[in-house]
Amino acid sequence: MIEKRDFYINGAWVAPSAPNDFNVIDPSTEEPCAVISLGSEADTNAAVAAAKAALPGWMATPPAERIALVEKLLEIYQTRIEDTAQATSMEMGAPIEMARTQQAGAGAYHLANFIKAAKAFQFDKPLGDHAPNDRIIYEAVGVAALITPWNWPQNQITLKVGAAAIAGCTMVLKPSEQSPLNAMIFAECMHEAGFPAGVFNLVNGDGVGVGTQLSGHPDVDMVSFTGSTRAGTAISKNAADTLKKVHLELGGKGANVVFADADDKAVKRGVLHMMNNTGQSCNAPSRMLVQAEIYDQAVEIARETAAKVTVGSAHDEGRHIGPVVNETQWTKIQDLIQKGIDEGARLVAGGTGRPDGLNKGYYVKPTVFADVTNDMTIGHEEIFGPVLSIMKFDSEDEAIAMANDTVYGLTNYVQTTDGARANRLARVLRSGMVEMNGQSRAAGSPFGGIKQSGNGREGGLYGIEDFLEVKAVSGWTPE
Ligand code: NAD
Repeated sequence: MIEKRDFYINGAWVAPSAPNDFNVIDPSTEEPCAVISLGSEADTNAAVAAAKAALPGWMATPPAERIALVEKLLEIYQTRIEDTAQATSMEMGAPIEMARTQQAGAGAYHLANFIKAAKAFQFDKPLGDHAPNDRIIYEAVGVAALITPWNWPQNQITLKVGAAAIAGCTMVLKPSEQSPLNAMIFAECMHEAGFPAGVFNLVNGDGVGVGTQLSGHPDVDMVSFTGSTRAGTAISKNAADTLKKVHLELGGKGANVVFADADDKAVKRGVLHMMNNTGQSCNAPSRMLVQAEIYDQAVEIARETAAKVTVGSAHDEGRHIGPVVNETQWTKIQDLIQKGIDEGARLVAGGTGRPDGLNKGYYVKPTVFADVTNDMTIGHEEIFGPVLSIMKFDSEDEAIAMANDTVYGLTNYVQTTDGARANRLARVLRSGMVEMNGQSRAAGSPFGGIKQSGNGREGGLYGIEDFLEVKAVSGWTPE
């Protein structure tokens, strides 16, 4: 069993101030695969103190030097993709092939995009030609607490650490206690890249412990959080006393609006997107809204597609889906599937229980419900599992109203061959992102939501700006 009890504080691996072992469970086997420590207040304080002490020096480091260190980090990270993928696969259940390409691969992609955006960004510039003595200086927000989830661990870590480092923030990362191993590999990469001591610190812990200590800490200037809306609310409240900046990336209940004139791959594409990462993505297209003319046909395609999705161990090569992360999530998903049945949705694929032949491991049957309405629990609650809800609509206006009838607002999807209609919907759908006809967002596009999906923007220049303050200076002597 892997033993990784230390934290990374002030440029070195240090033992926790008090022993507090926590077993990491491999969801493919339900067996412990590693032991880590959960930090206590003394560990949190030590990490925050290191970040605070390193802040003046790091803020004063020219952006070009900070960018060069992130370039070095990317180079080192590329050599650890396999280690990262193996750890991710073992601790949160992403099948190894997908863990390499999508999970670990996302980390390299985000770092590369930050480097490109930062090189073109002016951190210090005149206000405008009309005011030669006015200067705009972008400077770091300060000490940032980065709290990340287990579902796309490297994606979230690099989106936060890469942006914070380039902006000149120092930081304390608290990864999810469900997926700490890949974060510790990432910390090794940061160390090898040669970031000055204290710029980056990692303390493992849970939400009630280290997470809460960070969100309330007087020396933390900002919290960047990705995870549940429940935790986002708790963090916002706890951070209010010290008026920290709080950037949140929370849950979603995305609508995928499929019009009768959609391309003939649209339904299949939507089902497979829903099942990717075993449905554990905040931007999953979990509500498929289908126009009445093609509804029956779409339900049949969805049934066939889901029936062909295979489920298996995260350790096996192949394009199957893995287990969900842990027993709590497995039980929650089972309860929601049962609720779907009890509340009158029509089960067309999957259902409760484990898939045939899988008796151990947190495996869920790829499930599709038809005739779902927004007032059913599965129509409005985030399930975070491989469960698709199909709903019927008649008119464009009805589809828009149904799509927007949610507390969330992360990503909505539109499938139609009518370009003017697609663009109309892009303007009125209430979400931070709209993806149309299977085209995913390009490099540098901001990821983030509105309403109860959060308020932060991650990726590219938008992501760096989240970690920057704008300072206005007058009376500047032109140099
Ligand atoms: P969570 O929000 O509890 O955990 C995410 C991170 O926040 C972890 O690092 C956790 O330790 C920390 N945390 C939890 N409570 C905290 C608190 N009060 N203060 C500070 N930090 C805290 O998520 P979970 O329990 O692992 O998953 C439950 C649900 O969250 C899922 O069903 C899903 O709906 C949602 N979720 C969403 C995302 C996303 O990307 N939007 C990611 C993970 C989970």
